[in-house]
Amino acid sequence: MPKKTKDVFKPKRNNRFSRLRGMKDVLFDEYKYWDLIIRKASDLADFYGFQRMEVPILEKLNLYERSTGRDTDIVSKEMYSFIDKSGDKIALRPEATPGIARAYIEHGLFNKPQPVKTFWLGPLFRHEKPQSGRSRQHSQFNFDIYGEDSPVADAQLILIAYNFYKELQIGVQVQINSIGCKECRDEYIQKLTDFYKERGKRSKLCVDCKKRFLKNPLRLLDCKEKDCIEVREEAPQIVDSLCDACREHFIKVLEYLDELDVPYNLNPFLVRGLDYYNRTVFEIIPFEEEAEDENIFLRQSSLGGGGRYDGLIEILGGRPTPACGFGLGIERTILKIKEKNIPLNKEEKNFIFLAQLGDQARRKMFILFEEMRRSGYQVRQAFTKDSLKAQLEESNRIGAKYSLILGQKELLDGTIIVRDMESGTQEVIDYKKIYSDIDKRLEAGKEEKN
Ligand SMILES: [Zn+2]
Ligand SMILES: [Zn+2]
Repeated sequence: MPKKTKDVFKPKRNNRFSRLRGMKDVLFDEYKYWDLIIRKASDLADFYGFQRMEVPILEKLNLYERSTGRDTDIVSKEMYSFIDKSGDKIALRPEATPGIARAYIEHGLFNKPQPVKTFWLGPLFRHEKPQSGRSRQHSQFNFDIYGEDSPVADAQLILIAYNFYKELQIGVQVQINSIGCKECRDEYIQKLTDFYKERGKRSKLCVDCKKRFLKNPLRLLDCKEKDCIEVREEAPQIVDSLCDACREHFIKVLEYLDELDVPYNLNPFLVRGLDYYNRTVFEIIPFEEEAEDENIFLRQSSLGGGGRYDGLIEILGGRPTPACGFGLGIERTILKIKEKNIPLNKEEKNFIFLAQLGDQARRKMFILFEEMRRSGYQVRQAFTKDSLKAQLEESNRIGAKYSLILGQKELLDGTIIVRDMESGTQEVIDYKKIYSDIDKRLEAGKEEKN
């Protein structure tokens, strides 16, 4: 007799939804990576005294125009923005710092003992070009310090970012530069502009850089186009133009990093594309790529970065407040963990799986499950399944240590079967002795390990 094929539900193609381009779903197993990263970041936040906070995903559009900068790629090209039903111009946050800074002012956090140290984690949205292979939603976590101008703060943040990767066993290097303050930077930009004005230089630049030359010449330094990189080789370096105060600040930061044994690389072309940065800027680069091609891949492969933004709070209407911080990409970090097969060191859980055969047994196990769960046991079940085979398969799949099996016979005898899932051995025990038996076994397992 021909086997009857199962009816498989096939949705009609044109009746089906798929996720938006550049957006990703995060399913089940993927969360072990998220858990690891969130745990590590939270631990560091606790150690160094950063307090968790969250701000809304939506903010007023002009918050980003005024802080991140109207002419930056993020705001001018990549931001998701719209007019809401009340006619307000709204943006989905393309980066975290402006929202956190807005909250610092709005909640009067400047009245608290300074510095205020914040830990933030959440999604960001940028309408990136699809061919770039980048996601339009990605997540990041940020550490920021408000109300502290000492170079110790810069160094501590860099140390935290470095420790985060070191403790995950991901080799990274810190790229660091100083872009000075308003005064010394203006002087430098004049020098830089003069340099690019020299004969034949501007014509070699890419279309974007020709625009940057007029709008934001500093950004000529971090273009990734080959020709632009060639031209900039001879460009004057900003560290040579720093004023005394900026130079001293930068040297102190580097001295702390030396003392803390944080490896770094001075990168004179690192400027970070946002308007609010001053003095220290840095990026975290995976170690190997750095060796392969110094120039071209540096920025693309960055795992995150940050710097000082002493003017931001004032720009947003607060009182002058020095500040600095960094953000690290969660998905990019997960990619690295996968690439390097880094063990997740998940704490071992002693799952106890409850299996049953027959309706009456199921009812009894239902109750036992709740009892054991409330008593703190790591119980698991598949009560919707009837077949014992299917239940034990599930028990195997989740890596349960023991299964408790209740069938018709055991129900009548007042007993229950304990199955050691690793060895496959089974033992019939008195139903009333479940707890003492399981405790004994778990205890013996612990001693074996020690
Ligand atoms: Zn300066
Ligand atoms: Zn260019």
